[in-house]
Order: sequence, then C-alpha cells, then structure tokens
Amino acid sequence: MTGAAVDRAVTKVHDRGIRIVRNDNGETGYRIEIVGGLGRTPMIGQMLRDVLPKADLLPYLEAVLSSYNLLDRRDNEYKARIKITLREQGIEKIRDIVEARFALLRPAFQGGSDAHVARIAAGFAAPVFREAPTGAFEAARAADPVFRAWSDTKVDTHKAPGLATVTISLKAPGATPGDASADQMRVIADLAARYGHGDIRVSHEQNALLPHVHKSDLPALFAALKPAGLAIANAGLISDIIACPGMGYCSLATARSIPVAKKIAEHFQARDAEREIDQIKVKTSGCINACGRHHLGHIGIPGLEKGGVESYQITLSGDGGRRRRSGRGRGRALPMTRSCPRLSG
Ligand code: SF4
Repeated sequence: MTGAAVDRAVTKVHDRGIRIVRNDNGETGYRIEIVGGLGRTPMIGQMLRDVLPKADLLPYLEAVLSSYNLLDRRDNEYKARIKITLREQGIEKIRDIVEARFALLRPAFQGGSDAHVARIAAGFAAPVFREAPTGAFEAARAADPVFRAWSDTKVDTHKAPGLATVTISLKAPGATPGDASADQMRVIADLAARYGHGDIRVSHEQNALLPHVHKSDLPALFAALKPAGLAIANAGLISDIIACPGMGYCSLATARSIPVAKKIAEHFQARDAEREIDQIKVKTSGCINACGRHHLGHIGIPGLEKGGVESYQITLSGDGGRRRRSGRGRGRALPMTRSCPRLSG
C-alpha cells in the first residue's frame, strides 16, 4: 500500500496493490491493482478499479479474495497463484466477477467500528514537532564536506517545516547488506529516542529510517552514527544493493548472492565512483524466486545453476518506483568465474 506519488512500497509486484488517490472532488479513495509478482513468472500488476471510495475498501478486497477463491487453480500447487489465474482468465473477466461479488457483498457490510478505527488512528498520531531554526544544519553542511555528502544522500524532505527523514544505510563496505549488529541496533534505538520521537522504520530497501528528525539535530545525529559505522553516505547509490540470503543460508538457493553484492559494493567504493555514477539500483537473488527483487533493479543479478555451475544472468531496466516495470534478461548466463572473477577463487 502506498500513499506517495512515487511508489515506495513496490505495490505493482504484489497479489494486491493499493494506491491512495484523490478523486476529482478531492476525496480520498483507493486504486486497486492486482496480480503483480516476481519469481519465475514476473508480472507487473494491472489496474482493477481506478478509484474506490474509502468506505468500500474492505468489502471490495473481500470481493477480490472470494473471486480468487472461485477461480483459483487449487488442482495444481504450482498454478495456485493469482497471477496464473489472471493469465488464464484475463483482467476483464476477473474485473466482471469481482464487481459482481462486490455488488453482493457491499450491502451486507456494516462498516468498521468508529471507536476501533479511532483507537488505531490514535496509535499513529503524528508527534508534536518542535519549531526551531535550522541554521546549525546549514552551517554544518557548509563547513563539513563529509556531512554534506551524507546529508545529500541520506536526508529526505519531511512534510513539516524544519524536519527531515533520515535513512540509516545498513550497507557498509564489506558487510552483509541489510545486517545490523546488536550494538548498532541499540545505537539506532537510542538515537531514535533522542532525536526521532522514538520512531524507527525498516525499509524494503534493507535500510532503517528515522522518519522525524529536526534538521538542527542532524549534525549531532551524524556524529553519533559515525563511531557505530552507520554514517555511510550511499543510500540509493550503486553500493546500496538489495541481496537475498542466497547460498549463505537459504536451502532453495542455486547461487551465492551476498558475496556478489559485497564485491560490487567494494569495487565501486574503492574507486570512489559511486557519486559519479549517481542513483542506480542493483539487486541480486540466489535463485529464480527473486527474494532480492532483481527484476526491479536497474541492474538485476539472479543466480542460477547451469550444468552444475553457479552462474548469473543479467537483467536491465527494471524499476519498482516511478516507471514500475520488470527488467529484461540480457545475454547468456555467465558462470561465476566470468561474472565476478575475483569471487571465483
Ligand atoms: S531468492 Fe532464492 S535463494 Fe534467495 S532467499 Fe529467495 S528462495 Fe532463497
């Protein structure tokens, strides 16, 4: 589910994706997309309903689920996926069935409990943001090029004036992508309590986020992250790679993925070339199941076994954000010795 203009939740590659939109009268509604998926048969989700009124969301989702239960290929466990159903039935037929089910279910839906919804909403209430000058942030940027480089890649605009959202990269050079030690997690928790209203998010990009930090606190936050090895200025750059566990500890893997990600990151970090290349997404998986979402990488590197040899395919031009498209395979799969010679030994 995403409420952002740029899809940050890769909603197009899930069984059901929900985008929060507004209709022509400015009222909140939902765009429902279905049957995205990765793995052996990657598919980008298709639009089922353009704008669904807010009050209809739950019965509509129930209609989608019950339609799927009617159509599903339960006779074959490999085909018991909604994307297979779409391929066999077509989006028009599925839409007709869902709308018919929805027409039946909607009148019986009494709506949620207002008190219950209010309790949930209270749990997500925005903190009280302090108003303060941001001069310390601007001064630190002017004085310290390292801080400036970090804030260029790690700090995003917040809706409240003076606030920022900070990405804490868990992609240190030579480290396993997405890993944080117990000590690092304690540091992040302490900093969230001190500077971030006690809020931490874990992103699907395998990084951590502090969503609400005042800009005047950023120099102190940066200084505290440095000794913990958490002030790495590479969010969104080529060394910010998503990697699945691969052969490291997945029983389904046919190739290694973590060492591939580490070597690529080290290669570009050693040459100080990341900033020159700028924003690019690299993703690698240890098998065709695509847990590293390699189809959505500008460069995707799925591992596979070919004639008993650990090999890698290359996919190009995937995009899970603005364009939302699946990458295409390019060329033959290469054995590890040719894909990444330094790993082969
Ligand atoms: S993509 Fe394959 S190797 Fe990687 S975690 Fe998924 S199943 Fe395991």
